[in-house]
Amino acid sequence: MTKIAVLPCDGAGKEVVPEAIKVLKAAGADFDFEEYEVNADQYLRTGEPIPAHVWGELERADAILFGAVGDPRVSDAAYLAGVLLRLRFELDLYVNLRPARLYDDRLSPLRRDDKRGIDLLIVRENTEGLYVGMGGRFKKGTDHEVAIQEDLNTYLGVTRILEYAFGVAQREVVMVDKSNAMTHAGALWQQQWKAVAAKHPKVKTRHLYVDAAAMQLVRDPTQFDVIVTGNLFGDILSDLTAELIGGMGIAPSGNINPQTGRSLFEPVHGTAPDIAGRGVVNPIGAILSASMMVRHLGQTEMANAIEGAVESAIRAGECTRDLGGGLSTREVGDAVARRLKD
Ligand code: ATP
Repeated sequence: MTKIAVLPCDGAGKEVVPEAIKVLKAAGADFDFEEYEVNADQYLRTGEPIPAHVWGELERADAILFGAVGDPRVSDAAYLAGVLLRLRFELDLYVNLRPARLYDDRLSPLRRDDKRGIDLLIVRENTEGLYVGMGGRFKKGTDHEVAIQEDLNTYLGVTRILEYAFGVAQREVVMVDKSNAMTHAGALWQQQWKAVAAKHPKVKTRHLYVDAAAMQLVRDPTQFDVIVTGNLFGDILSDLTAELIGGMGIAPSGNINPQTGRSLFEPVHGTAPDIAGRGVVNPIGAILSASMMVRHLGQTEMANAIEGAVESAIRAGECTRDLGGGLSTREVGDAVARRLKD
């Protein structure tokens, strides 16, 4: 039986993950769901972000369904690094997929009439760049303090993410970097971009600097199919694209290694400390992440059915308040699940 490791973790994650599981069950998913205690309470008690016995289980799972990590009581970056970044890095989940699809015109902040066509995918490099934690602080606490944060880019890492983007593009791949200012890393990205693009002559290609890409995403997001970029730019641009389709509550993501099949699916949002615990967080980002998970596991029809049910609930106005509705987190889960049972 397919084993899904469930890690709701903290804050909003604890509220949205049960709704995603409810929807998966309503869609007929026959998975063995195993939930593990990886959260701030556990960390504060033991000092271990992920206990050793849990790590072994996570390595063995067919996929991980993840909520969000973070807690006001835990200020040190070691917790975030020890949970989410460790999973991404050590399971080598080098592809971060962040799709943005507009399910209803009323959710877009843009005025254009043709925004309905927003349906793009950000393919973000997930294991390198500025997020590897290399660097340090020198002469800390003095007026002469120096802080260095290294931007790691490898031939293998850059090449494999570009290859992946070409594999999933329908119309066009747009590569986004800042090679005019970040010349060393940028030169490697440019070199491999040209090399990989040459192997895929049938796919249209375009290059944009990240500042121009941000502008174009607001000017006309319907022009984009697949955007491939590094860790930092992918993180930033995908918050922008989330806002174009209805906000943080609705955006899903997947972290995958296409070679090993290992994967982790999570909403783009974090723990939403400002609204968590009140039954008002939107579970759609987590539900759509679950739909991405079943697609990754080969169950295309089920994935399409879940997406269809989400679209129908949104269009009927059966949403949380961030999307203009008045339902609770649980009621939105019920609204989507009901459509799958009918
Ligand atoms: P963290 O430190 O865990 O990343 P954060 O506050 O930095 O938390 P998010 O949790 O992503 O970042 O929240 C950003 C904003 O989006 C907040 O105003 C939050 O209330 C809102 N938000 C996040 N998730 C949801 C959700 N599921 N439903 C509705 N609003 C949300």
